[in-house]
Amino acid sequence: MSNFARLIRQRYPYRAPSASVDHLVVGGGVVGLAVAAGLVNTAGAGRTTFLVERRQLPQVAALYSRSRPAVREGRGSGDSPQEDWQVATDKHQIPYLDGLQAHSNNSAFLNGQPESAMVNNSVIPAYFLSGHEARDMEPDLSPKVCAALLVTETGIVNSGSLVESLEREIQEEDYLKASGADKNGVGLAGRSFDRGEGVIVPGTRVVRIDPAEDGKGWVVQLESNWEDGPGDIDAVRASVVVDAAGLNSAALVNELLPEEEQMNIYISKGSWRRECQQAHLPVSQRQLGFTWDASYGNIRFGPDVEALGSAEDSAADPDFWQKHLAPSAAHLESIGQAAQAMLPGVDPSLLQPDYAGFRPNIAPPGAGFFDFVVRHSPQRRGLIEMFGFASPGLTSSLAAGEYVAKMVRAQVWGGRDAERLAEGWEQ
Ligand SMILES: Cc1cc2nc3c(=O)[nH]c(=O)nc-3n(C[C@H](O)[C@H](O)[C@H](O)COP(=O)(O)OP(=O)(O)OC[C@H]3O[C@@H](n4cnc5c(N)ncnc54)[C@H](O)[C@@H]3O)c2cc1C
Repeated sequence: MSNFARLIRQRYPYRAPSASVDHLVVGGGVVGLAVAAGLVNTAGAGRTTFLVERRQLPQVAALYSRSRPAVREGRGSGDSPQEDWQVATDKHQIPYLDGLQAHSNNSAFLNGQPESAMVNNSVIPAYFLSGHEARDMEPDLSPKVCAALLVTETGIVNSGSLVESLEREIQEEDYLKASGADKNGVGLAGRSFDRGEGVIVPGTRVVRIDPAEDGKGWVVQLESNWEDGPGDIDAVRASVVVDAAGLNSAALVNELLPEEEQMNIYISKGSWRRECQQAHLPVSQRQLGFTWDASYGNIRFGPDVEALGSAEDSAADPDFWQKHLAPSAAHLESIGQAAQAMLPGVDPSLLQPDYAGFRPNIAPPGAGFFDFVVRHSPQRRGLIEMFGFASPGLTSSLAAGEYVAKMVRAQVWGGRDAERLAEGWEQ
């Protein structure tokens, strides 16, 4: 048992539950919100879903340091158009654009026609542009730009609106129906709307989870009002607990797992830089591998990747990253150079640190690609573990919510749902 886990268990001894819920989701980031929405939308009348978030408001918490919602390349903020540009400043980068367009289902493009006229036969409209075509549309682009991919309807997500919409989906009974979206809610693809009850509990943290003594479900201790000393503790019994606590996801459940299934969290920090002068850059507010912040008249470059501490640091104090909220200046020079290669009008000396965010990687730096882990072990029935939701966790959140809702229906509530057989999960 880690020192941190020992301390927590001493500080919060076991308590018998005083209430019961069906589903308890830990973490009100975008993933927890999407999971809770999926559970609420499909649980059926009489089933309750609680989402417990230690902050006062659910948000895209992985990104910090300013109060505006998270934005980055490929993602719109506020009123900016939902359009994405990727540019290549070197011929070697063209295969990367090829790959991106392949993902948008346009195999024709892969024949490679650098001077092609705009061609679009994609499911997602993705236009390959030569350097000349790109500069015709965005004259501030560098002459070094030799190709560009313009995606006019993308998975660009306005994170603030998404979070708000999910909150309403969870808590407001008529929200989906009133907005005519009762077929599009999380978890409703191919299913009819069968709503349960949803409650978001902000300003409350989960401090301990134990298996229920009768083996049916989990006893979860919740603490509120802890900021100025010991808080108020309640214990509830939940048939299903979903760990969507992001950077804290491993610390929350590692003690319940056999050693070989325990997770390490390797945090990587991402910082954005902002250019602080009124833009001489594309007035059309398009996004060119950077983010345009329309309200400030600034543009933002990034994020970079910087390893923060070690897995041991995370295990000793899962919140150690909170001492590093200020955006880092580590890669200021190289980001300035990269920005200038796209947009010669950028003055690197005007770039300043702006946002920072923290990714909960489950593989050490340099280990290459790792996928998200969504796990429900037959040995821990009703405990759904979600680890490693780094990028593209925001884009994937709705699919993750749908997946977990289906998993819970099939593997926990089984009898109602023949899907459990298809999942291959054995009781
Ligand atoms: C620099 C950077 C760039 C990114 N770029 C992209 C991108 O381009 N596209 C994309 O799709 N994704 C991107 N992501 C990833 C995306 O932001 C995350 O995957 C997503 O926000 C993760 O959401 P989450 O809900 O899993 O975690 P979080 O947002 O971290 O939410 C977890 C929540 O759990 C709460 N919590 C923790 N412990 C407890 C507890 N004990 N009790 C109660 N609550 C608790 C926390 O307060 C927090 O609100 C990026 C991330 C970063 C950092």
